[in-house]
Amino acid sequence: MAKQIQAIRGMNDILPDQTGRWQALESVIRRLVASYGYSEIRMPIVEQTELFKRSIGEVTDIVEKEMYTFDDRNGESLTLRPEGTASCVRAGNQHGLLYNQQQRLWYMGPMFRYERPQKGRYRQFHQVGVESFGIASADIDAELIIMTARLWRDLGIADHLTLELNSLASNEARAVYRQALTDYLREHKEQLDEDSVRRLESNPLRILDSKNPAMADMLSAAPKLSAYWDDESRAHFQSLCARLDAAGVPYTLNERLVRGLDYYNRTVFEWVTDSLGAQGTVCAGGRYDGLVGQLGGKDTPAVGFAMGLERLVLMLEIANTLPIADTVQVYIAVGGDNAELPAQAVAEKLRDHFPGLRVHLHCGGGNFGRQLKRADRAGATIAIMLGESEIAESTFTVKYLREQREQVSVNWAGLQALIEVLGLI
Ligand code: ATP
Ligand code: MG
Repeated sequence: MAKQIQAIRGMNDILPDQTGRWQALESVIRRLVASYGYSEIRMPIVEQTELFKRSIGEVTDIVEKEMYTFDDRNGESLTLRPEGTASCVRAGNQHGLLYNQQQRLWYMGPMFRYERPQKGRYRQFHQVGVESFGIASADIDAELIIMTARLWRDLGIADHLTLELNSLASNEARAVYRQALTDYLREHKEQLDEDSVRRLESNPLRILDSKNPAMADMLSAAPKLSAYWDDESRAHFQSLCARLDAAGVPYTLNERLVRGLDYYNRTVFEWVTDSLGAQGTVCAGGRYDGLVGQLGGKDTPAVGFAMGLERLVLMLEIANTLPIADTVQVYIAVGGDNAELPAQAVAEKLRDHFPGLRVHLHCGGGNFGRQLKRADRAGATIAIMLGESEIAESTFTVKYLREQREQVSVNWAGLQALIEVLGLI
């Protein structure tokens, strides 16, 4: 036999027994964003490499080591998108969606990062991103966070998630802090790991994010960013906190939360869980007032977040709160060649009468016994058996597969009534 070809490591097939849960999650999300007045935008999966370098930042994990970058046939450097915000801003600028106006946008789709695959961390994964443009005040930061809190309630996982909040303040304030932090870290250089030494000059704030336990004590004693907040950023943060308090959304201030992308200022936040091991961040975001300008648009305040759907699906499995799959409801078993065309017609007639009813017409022949086994395995509620005698008498023999009940013989009106009574539609 020919050798089978496998999927690329870290790029997963989402199999039929999983897609029901994915679809349920996606529809809850669609309903949620619509209820806050956000419109969907769909961007290409491939962009010019320059877009991500300029937005995410040259000295970040993503750009330094995680991007799938390749040369197009004409030598242009392209990259599979590692995240959606840069593309969303690029599209907004390109189509004039952001100029002197407010936009509330969302998107969903695959992202690509060359990381070490493990539970909750893959090379192709899926994000839902929500972005708001043109609003500088903290009311919109609050709205986005309140929206995510509602989503956790809708999904039944609110108890498993906590909100961490920080402010990166203004670029100017952060620059002063950066100097103080660099001075401190230089004094403790012997304790820094290899990555951190490299970042010391290029991106010292990212060192705060390190999970290396050997550096934990030294980092907790480092100067605090909040001591350097400018007055406006402090007021912005306080306004956000007051709004979260009013909405009953609890949070903790995490001074070491700096996020892995360079474009953030002021508000940054993460929703974290301890039910997924090391991959504990389910949703992350913040304000990025500089990015639209940095990508060639007119300066426009913006704030957004992205959440990882694989991690949410894992949480839903643990909490067991969403349906697993939309199984077949009605299985039509076919008794002999002469029953095939009538059975096909019955299947179509059922779909005409009950849009949305999940009807599986048996194909490929075989006796009733084997067909009923398949019906059972497919999870069907009832099987309709159509053999020559049923066709001659215009009746349907219905077998209940999920309850102990005698099979019945009904006419078309009786079949419709039975489906209604069972609540299949
Ligand atoms: P992490 O610290 O886990 O690497 P990150 O800060 O790189 O996350 P973001 O770029 O903020 O992640 O992406 C937002 C969300 O997307 C994350 O909180 C996570 O849920 C999800 N995510 C990011 N990278 C991956 C991945 N490789 N596999 C699965 N989900 C991911
Ligand atoms: Mg990462």
